[in-house]
Amino acid sequence: MRGERFLSSLNDGRTVWLEGKKVSAIQEHPAFKGTLHTIKDLFNMLDNPATQEEVGFRVPGTDRYAHGSFLVPHTPEQLARRSSSFARWSSETSGMMSRLSDYARSLVTGWYSARHQLAGLDPHFADKIAAYYEQARDNDLFLTTAIIDPQIDRSGNLDDKRISERFLHVVRETKEGIVVRGAKMIATGAPYTHDFVIFSFLQFQSHNRNHAHVLIVPANSAGLHIVCRESFADAREQNHPLSAKYDEMDAVLFFDDVLIPWERVLLYGNPEHVLALRANKTANALAFHQNVVRFTAKLEFVTGVAFAVAESIGTTGFLHIQEKLGELLTQIDVIKALIIAAETKAVPDVSGVLVPDLSYIETARSLGTKYYPRAVEILQIVGGGGFVQAPSGVEDFYGPISELMHRYFEGASVSAEKKVQLFKLAWDLIGSSLGARHLLYERFYAGDPIRGLANQYNAFDKSSLTEPIWRLLKQTSKGGAAWSAK
Ligand SMILES: Cc1cc2nc3c(=O)[nH]c(=O)nc-3n(C[C@H](O)[C@H](O)[C@H](O)COP(=O)(O)OP(=O)(O)OC[C@H]3O[C@@H](n4cnc5c(N)ncnc54)[C@H](O)[C@@H]3O)c2cc1C
Repeated sequence: MRGERFLSSLNDGRTVWLEGKKVSAIQEHPAFKGTLHTIKDLFNMLDNPATQEEVGFRVPGTDRYAHGSFLVPHTPEQLARRSSSFARWSSETSGMMSRLSDYARSLVTGWYSARHQLAGLDPHFADKIAAYYEQARDNDLFLTTAIIDPQIDRSGNLDDKRISERFLHVVRETKEGIVVRGAKMIATGAPYTHDFVIFSFLQFQSHNRNHAHVLIVPANSAGLHIVCRESFADAREQNHPLSAKYDEMDAVLFFDDVLIPWERVLLYGNPEHVLALRANKTANALAFHQNVVRFTAKLEFVTGVAFAVAESIGTTGFLHIQEKLGELLTQIDVIKALIIAAETKAVPDVSGVLVPDLSYIETARSLGTKYYPRAVEILQIVGGGGFVQAPSGVEDFYGPISELMHRYFEGASVSAEKKVQLFKLAWDLIGSSLGARHLLYERFYAGDPIRGLANQYNAFDKSSLTEPIWRLLKQTSKGGAAWSAK
């Protein structure tokens, strides 16, 4: 089973740091165990005849199934199959695991799909990405991205040595490849990824050649340090049902003179080419499509929890509660409608790859940065003090105050135990460390939301909206004596 193979493949000499210690057996470590068990089960869905059609596709010329994120869509059915593979993995994890590698895999699939469009950027790009795509697909490689440069001084730029020395840069070239030094933030899933997709989000100047590259970096590269944040995993599943299974760890990467073999250097030393790759619509549409399908599962989950909380305390008859629960349904409908629009308005690119409409997907991603914090706020309003009324554990239901527990924690429509269980689940979503991390994730995973919306405005053909206004005002001023007199 490929889930078990995935777990054993992590014994590859990688350097993972947590709480000042190098983690030796990551599969056994309490910070990772629950999450890795979840991923193992997801991987095994591809070996199970009952689920492999939904999460995967048969690799042409073989009997083998690969995850849908590796499928290059040429028909609406294939695009729908990609979508269903994202949806199934997301719903299996209630949308709580955002980086199950299907996003980074989709980016690689996108670059592979667009390799002929991108061939002008580097004569070896097409061959390198084709070889890597097949390797990743056929070996079920777990991938993640790390594209943000470390948050040192955002007011500075690369002319400042303090910054340029810390951002990832090339220190020398060898026959085997390039040697890089510096840091990258943030890589979700880093401790258990096989390879990192590395590039920069910044628009470097033409002379910043040392910093402009697109790399695929194996997690066990010598000199690569994976530095984890505090773990939010909690083995007490009854108290923290989400933290017990879904803490996808975030980490910073330190590159202490890491050799990247030439075949893994997709682009090198050219800021304009890196920017062109980053702006490629085929790749972005295929990758960002995963983001919004995954997000729908999360919104549905929060909505389900909010409905259950309201039912459990008998507030569903109040108008303002109904209004807020209705707002959650509107959120789901809007994101779903944008996904349907993006999929039905998909058009073939120059190579015949069916590309979802990127503008609808980007709108859904932007809305998500506002919808999720609002959804969490609604859940808080719906549950009120009930979240902290829940007892420290369920043990008291079986101890000397058992009878009182059953009496005083009883709900409007559910038993005391069920109600406590529900509020613990809800708290894990909105109040635990994991919950706080998710709020931050939804605000920022797609980049800075403020600059994202500003870019949407800047890139828009504004005259299509302003011309009718000027035309209308021209007609008005012709007819209006007072204005024309002035
Ligand atoms: C939980 C989590 C998981 C993540 N996982 C991944 C991952 O797996 N892979 C990955 O590549 N990335 C990941 N990211 C990183 C994410 O892409 C970045 O957080 C995001 O792009 C914002 O960048 P930043 O964090 O450096 O914030 P900054 O850019 O430092 O922004 C901080 C604040 O300063 C403001 N600001 C900064 N610079 C400017 C400017 N020039 N003009 C105007 N305002 C500015 C911003 O608006 C913002 O309010 C993750 C982030 C989070 C929170």
